[in-house]
Amino acid sequence: MNCGAYTLYAIEDGWIMRHPAEVFPDVEPDLWPPGDLIDGMLRVTWGCFLLTDGSRTVLVDTGMGPLAASLPGDRQAVAGQLPQALAMIGVRPDDVQVVVHTHLHVDHCGGNLTPNGSPLFPNAEFRVHRTELDFWLHESTVPAAPAVQGVMQPLIDAGQVEPVDGETDVAPGVRLVETPGHTPGHVSVVVTSQGTRTFIAGDVSHHPNQIPHPDWVSVFDLDPAQALRTRERVFEQVTGTGTVFAAGHYPPPGIGYIEMDDRKRIFVPGTAVQVA
Ligand SMILES: [Zn+2]
Ligand SMILES: [Zn+2]
Repeated sequence: MNCGAYTLYAIEDGWIMRHPAEVFPDVEPDLWPPGDLIDGMLRVTWGCFLLTDGSRTVLVDTGMGPLAASLPGDRQAVAGQLPQALAMIGVRPDDVQVVVHTHLHVDHCGGNLTPNGSPLFPNAEFRVHRTELDFWLHESTVPAAPAVQGVMQPLIDAGQVEPVDGETDVAPGVRLVETPGHTPGHVSVVVTSQGTRTFIAGDVSHHPNQIPHPDWVSVFDLDPAQALRTRERVFEQVTGTGTVFAAGHYPPPGIGYIEMDDRKRIFVPGTAVQVA
């Protein structure tokens, strides 16, 4: 879709089938609208977003990529489609100038390297919040930390990682804003261009049902209370403003708007809503 001077592409690196209680353990299964489940299971997308204005190309997250090989083998899952998807829209990995990591969970940085371990985006500067990078580089209690270090260390060694502190512009009109809670240094991406505003949320929210129910807490939120405060703040800021809301774990393409419907917030998927 067009976001002012930028074109926004939603890219599905892959997906995995999960029982809803695996993601939202405190939500009774019968509270899920039947249309949201497939044979009682959630299809969770591993989504990325690409922004390009013809001269600047910014990729937000890189999906699960080759790290999917570390998942338990009994999972119905697909991963590693990002390079193919970029080719379909005429973007070569060499063209990507900036990679933003909303955070460093493996499903957001797993595509940084090719299956043989070389950098997939050799010309890109990787922008990740300093708090986030420090957390994962020094964290030893989180089981995924070695995998994260494995995909970030070669890029650090190559001088490709530029940590950010606070709000930072990574391209004209493309700003990182702090949205902590899901992880300590989680950021979202706000694109402001030619009168349009787009909010790429990262893992502030994992499913559209959290828009009416922000208290549905994902098991992946490292600080659930802070994640809830951030989620409520973001939804409040975006609701009814015409801001495009994009989230990589939402059903693809994961792009829409947040509107009020009878005093309840809802997600309105799509790219064509006009708000006066
Ligand atoms: Zn995450
Ligand atoms: Zn995620």
